[in-house]
Amino acid sequence: MLEILFLLLPIAAGYGWYMGRRSIRHKQNSKRKQLSRDYFTGLNFLLSNESDKAVDLFISMLDVDDDTIDTHLSLGSLFRKRGEVDRSIRIHQNLIARPSLTNEQRDIAMMELGKDYLAAGFYDRAEEIFLNLVRQEDHSQEAEDQLIAIYQVTKDWQKAIDIIQTLKRKRQQSLKHLCAHLYCELADEQQDLELKLKTLSLALKQDNNCGRALLHLAKLYLNQQDVAHGKEMIVRLKDADIELFPEALAIANELYQSPDERSAYRELLREALEQGAGASVAITLAQHMIEHGELQDAEKLILDGLYRHPTMKSFQHLMKMQLQHAEDGQAKQSLNMLSELVEQQIKYRPSYRCTECGFPSHTLYWHCPSCKSWGSIKRIRGLDGE
Ligand SMILES: [Zn+2]
Repeated sequence: MLEILFLLLPIAAGYGWYMGRRSIRHKQNSKRKQLSRDYFTGLNFLLSNESDKAVDLFISMLDVDDDTIDTHLSLGSLFRKRGEVDRSIRIHQNLIARPSLTNEQRDIAMMELGKDYLAAGFYDRAEEIFLNLVRQEDHSQEAEDQLIAIYQVTKDWQKAIDIIQTLKRKRQQSLKHLCAHLYCELADEQQDLELKLKTLSLALKQDNNCGRALLHLAKLYLNQQDVAHGKEMIVRLKDADIELFPEALAIANELYQSPDERSAYRELLREALEQGAGASVAITLAQHMIEHGELQDAEKLILDGLYRHPTMKSFQHLMKMQLQHAEDGQAKQSLNMLSELVEQQIKYRPSYRCTECGFPSHTLYWHCPSCKSWGSIKRIRGLDGE
C-alpha cells in the first residue's frame, strides 16, 4: 500500500504543478481580457468625443501594465496632433511620474512633453526640456531641431544661430538657407549701420545667393549714397534670385539716376527680362522709354511681352499708354473705363503666393505666416501676376 502511495507522489506533484500553471495562465488571461476591455471602452470614449473620460481610463491603466507605455505615447501624440494639448500634457506628465520607467522611456516621454509645451505655447518649459535632451546622444538631433523651432517662434535669432553653429558640418550645410534668413532678421533689428552690414555679410557667407540680404544691402548702400556698392548688390541680386529682382526696381531706379547711367540701366533691365523677371520689369523699362520720348518703342516692348507672356498688368499698362494719345470721344471713355476696371482687379488680387503651401498675400513676407517656410513667398507668375 505504502509503495503505491510512493508511486502516486510524482503524479500528484505533476498535477499540482499543472494546476498551478493553469491558475497563473488563467489570471494572466483574465488580466489581459480586462486590459483589452478597458482599451475598448477607452476607444469608445474617444470615438464618442468623450476624450476626458478616455484620458482618465488610459491613465488608470498605466498602473496595470508596463506594455501600455508605447500605446500611451502614441495616444498622447494623437491628442497633440488633434490640438488637444492639455490632454497630451496630462498623459505624458503621468508617464514621466512613473518610478518604474527606464531612462530611455523617460527621455522619450520628456521629448513628447516638450513638444506638447511647444504646441501649447509654453516656450520656457519646452526650451528647458530640450536643453536637457540635447545632452543625450540618442535624442540630441531631435532636441536641436526643436530648439531651433522654438527660437524662431520666440524671435531669439541669435540663439537659433548659436544652435546651428554647434551642429555637424553636413547638417549646417542643409540649414544654410534658414541660417541666412536668421542673420537677415538679426540685421533688421540692429540699429548700428556697421553692425547691420557685418550681419548681412554673414548672411551672404551662409548663402551666397540670399536675395533678401542682397536687397537689404542695396537699400543700405543707397541710403549711404554709396552708388557703386549699391549697383553691385543689384547686379548680384539679378543673377542670384531673379524672382526677387522686381522688389529692387525702385532702388535700382535711384541708383541709376545719372544721365551717364541711362544705357547701363536699360541694359540691366533688359538682362533681367531675358532672365525671366516678368511684367513689372517690362513696365519699368517701358516707363523709362516713355520718359525719354520713345513712346512707340515702349508700346512695342509691352506688346511683344504680351504676345509671349500675357499678363493683366502689361495689358493694363498698354491701355494706359494708348490713352495718352487717344482722341477724345466715346472710344477713349470706354478704354479709360476698361483700364480702371482692370486696375481694380489687379489691386484686389493677391500679388504673392507661398510656393510651399499656396498661402496668398498682398505683401512680401520672408517667413510664411501659414507654413513657416523661409523665403518661400514669391510674386505670382502667369496671367494674374508677373
Ligand atoms: Zn507657406
